[in-house]
Amino acid sequence: MSNFEALWTFQTEDIKADTIANEIRRSPTRQKLERSRDFILERQKQYKQIEDSISGLADRKEMLEQALARAVDRLDQLRGRMNGLDPEDEASVEAMVREMSDAREELHSFEAELSHMNSDAGAYDKQLRSVRVEAAKAKQAFDQLKVDYENESKTKKEELEAQRARAKALESSVEPDLLAEYMAIKKHITPPVSRLQFGQCSGCNTSLPSATLSKIRNGVLVECETCGRMIIQ
Ligand SMILES: [Zn+2]
Repeated sequence: MSNFEALWTFQTEDIKADTIANEIRRSPTRQKLERSRDFILERQKQYKQIEDSISGLADRKEMLEQALARAVDRLDQLRGRMNGLDPEDEASVEAMVREMSDAREELHSFEAELSHMNSDAGAYDKQLRSVRVEAAKAKQAFDQLKVDYENESKTKKEELEAQRARAKALESSVEPDLLAEYMAIKKHITPPVSRLQFGQCSGCNTSLPSATLSKIRNGVLVECETCGRMIIQ
């Protein structure tokens, strides 16, 4: 086998190994696993936010209940004072009626706000339950995906190891200088070796000048001026 043919055979197995390595990196199962993890993290964040809202609501509710108790007291006091007023003193009675009406209004607005808060709290509880259920389902899916990915990548990694070994075994059949050149080109472009096809570099489909063509036909090492690959016949 010529040097170039040995290199070509080596490249075939080397690129197969790279393909498996890429498949492992871009595995759809792995991508699903990452998306599933993000979904769970997002639900956990949401759960925390709802809990914070509930705790803020509880604080406000406590303050409002105190304000409501004060408003009830105030109204009671006003009623007491109203009873002690002289019914003939119209101005004082009128002022007292106004004050009591204000106090009642305040009391009703507190009651309305409290009832609103209670319905908010109910809605938050419902949200919390639904996020918890979603997160639990997602966790189950995640665990299954993780098992699948571990099985899949175990098989793939074994396949990759075997393929790397096949390529490695062919390395010694390639002349060391040529192999070094191959490795150097591979850092920039892969696969590093292309065939001459209809007077073109099959790597980038650039037509080659006749001087280059005859060099290739004479077995001289040529690199494509466009893509940098080694071109062999
Ligand atoms: Zn080229």
